Amino acid sequence: MEYLVIAFFFGLATALIGRAKGSSFFIWFLIGAVTLLIGLVAVVLYRVDKDEPERQCPNCHKALKLYVQVCPRCGTDLYLPDPAAVRHPGVR
Ligand SMILES: [Zn+2]
Repeated sequence: MEYLVIAFFFGLATALIGRAKGSSFFIWFLIGAVTLLIGLVAVVLYRVDKDEPERQCPNCHKALKLYVQVCPRCGTDLYLPDPAAVRHPGVR
């Protein structure tokens, strides 16, 4: 029974950090509740998604993260863009 309480609080802490970093609350709750300290460390190290560099899809002009390789809207294969076309939202 104590294990469930501990798992719940690790899940909650992990999920709150994950949500603050722009990720899924539910997914990080599951990770934290199952892996406990490992999940908590993982979410702290997890990259801040909104600070990732962005570029536009050349086909449909959807704003995408630089690490996205296939456009989720139109399915275009994406290669590394012209550096001038990359936005760095974390650098202001
Ligand atoms: Zn596209």
